[in-house]
Amino acid sequence: MTTPLLTSSTDRDWRRHGNCTASDVNMHPDDSDHRGEQAAKKVCAGCPVATQCLVESINLSDWHGIRAGLTGGERRNLDAQRTPRRCARCRDVFVPRVHNQIRCRPCARANDLRGRR
Ligand code: SF4
Ligand SMILES: [Zn+2]
Repeated sequence: MTTPLLTSSTDRDWRRHGNCTASDVNMHPDDSDHRGEQAAKKVCAGCPVATQCLVESINLSDWHGIRAGLTGGERRNLDAQRTPRRCARCRDVFVPRVHNQIRCRPCARANDLRGRR
């Protein structure tokens, strides 16, 4: 039997075990602060509760700061990859690779080719 990662509010106790609790690195660097992002990602490396942290951030659509070694944009892309959506052009269902992808691959390719002509 597998145990759900987040079953009740008390499960938030996992936060106490995060590497970031014992670090003074800013885990919410500005988007343009590449060095700050890399420093925060290093804190997450090997964090024993990274899975819980990632699951919670996706469940809550929390795209702020670095969590589980990923930026908000990287987590949004991960989230997008598990949620099928309808193509804006042909209406077929497809699984996006990035969160802002609105067309299926064939339609996106056709659109690119038209743009180059
Ligand atoms: S994965 Fe990163 S942000 Fe999440 S608890 Fe661990 S160190 Fe903190
Ligand atoms: Zn399509």
